[in-house]
Amino acid sequence: MTLSPATRLPAEAFPAELRTYRNYIDGAFTDAGSDLIEVRNPATGALLGHIPETPADQVDAAVRAARQAQPDWERLPAIERANHLRKVSAKLRQHRVELADIIVREQGKIRPLAQVEVDFTADYIDYMAEWARRIEGEVLTSDRPNETMLLLRKPLGVVAGVLPWNFPFFLIARKMAPALVTGNTIVIKPSEETPLNAYVFAELLAETDMPKGVFNLVGGHGAVAGQALISHPGIDLITFTGSVGTGSHIMQEAGKNLTKVNLELGGKAPAIVLKDADLELAAQAIHASRVINTGQVCNCAERVYVQREVHDDLVARLKQLFEATRYGDPSAEADLDMGPLVNQAGLDKVAQAVERAREQGATIVTGGRRADLPEGFHYLPTLITGATAEMDIMRRETFGPVLPVQPVDSLDEAIALANDSDYGLTSSVYTRDLNAAMKAARELRFGETYINRENFEAMQGFHAGRRKSGIGGADGKHGLYEFTTTHVVYIKG
Ligand code: NAD
Repeated sequence: MTLSPATRLPAEAFPAELRTYRNYIDGAFTDAGSDLIEVRNPATGALLGHIPETPADQVDAAVRAARQAQPDWERLPAIERANHLRKVSAKLRQHRVELADIIVREQGKIRPLAQVEVDFTADYIDYMAEWARRIEGEVLTSDRPNETMLLLRKPLGVVAGVLPWNFPFFLIARKMAPALVTGNTIVIKPSEETPLNAYVFAELLAETDMPKGVFNLVGGHGAVAGQALISHPGIDLITFTGSVGTGSHIMQEAGKNLTKVNLELGGKAPAIVLKDADLELAAQAIHASRVINTGQVCNCAERVYVQREVHDDLVARLKQLFEATRYGDPSAEADLDMGPLVNQAGLDKVAQAVERAREQGATIVTGGRRADLPEGFHYLPTLITGATAEMDIMRRETFGPVLPVQPVDSLDEAIALANDSDYGLTSSVYTRDLNAAMKAARELRFGETYINRENFEAMQGFHAGRRKSGIGGADGKHGLYEFTTTHVVYIKG
């Protein structure tokens, strides 16, 4: 494994001084007067800033502010709400480079991907703003004479958005934009691993004339601020993206108040490669998908089923690509394919998953250990063969740059193995045979299937998982309507 020479980056854009960021509640930046949480760069360990460990009373203040602001916000014409959103996206575009820099430093994402995340976030807000004139109810036919039935579509009220660390900036918009355009207000709790970008987002939003209380931000650990938020009786929808364990806990807590949940959870995406596939295309797409964001993506290929006839050819191509992967510190180097894992726990989880695969009889083709870098949570891109259906590496989410490959005899076998999973978020198929592609589309039980490509999903699609990958979904019309409720009115006369 060689570390390709990387270009040193010229200047440090991240603010030199260490800041303690403040929560944004009811249109004001407020001191939580609480313990502080350190935020560090996962590539270097450098301290980047502090955020508050928000106590329950301040979370309560944020929910109350959102509740108070909601009726007036709902009364605004949708197009005016959309105009407020567009002012936010314009601010993000003005500061796109600094924002990307923050994401690089606190999450360890390579710079081009961080820039895509920022730009896509601004576009996503605009896309959701465009829905303002398209939020539609229905006129229904009544069973009674002289009666008209109207199905009105209305906001739910106050939304709690609990975010993960892997696409921390985009997830703010994925929660906030559909919530706000449909007339809800929101309280966001970013991940304690990557909160700074959310605080800067709030600072930019505060420079617009967004009415106070419509968008609120509270930081802290899941067990403290997160717990206070999801168990609050003043919340009408909890929209959560994160792990299955936390999702399950949130659902139990929501059950106490009968709060609606929208859960986007983990994945173990299968990639099926058939013998007629363009193998170079398949190898490149699967490799890129496995190392993007250092493998920390819910819908990227996590396991490969390849038809036996082309197994060795595909593995040889993948090996070459895995060994040429450029990795390092994205805050200091350009021209990288991946950075570090997000924290020590993430590194340990990946290392243990690979060890377990080795113990269970799989072969490590390349990688299989921590990278030789002086600092940071770096793990080598790792290709594994000889995987079988019972192995943990084929069943549990790894969330790192590790790809296990299993040979299969037929498309039927591949589909059966792919479906035999706790997860049901994303899947992919590589073939030139339209019949095979259509059969896979019919028989795969997943929320998304990509034919001859990997991620990402489109903002006009519907990103939703089956089984333990979640409940409900995001994006497009169907994602927008998750933030609404219906109200049927019978008009007799
Ligand atoms: P996580 O579950 O550890 O944390 C997510 C958020 O939940 C954090 O903000 C955390 O503070 C909060 N939290 C933790 N305990 C809580 C509690 N008791 N009450 C309230 N909030 C609590 O997940 P993570 O490690 O940040 O993210 C990685 C996971 O997210 C992976 O499993 C990945 O597959 C999944 N993910 C899914 C999607 C999707 O669209 N399906 C997208 C991105 C990430």
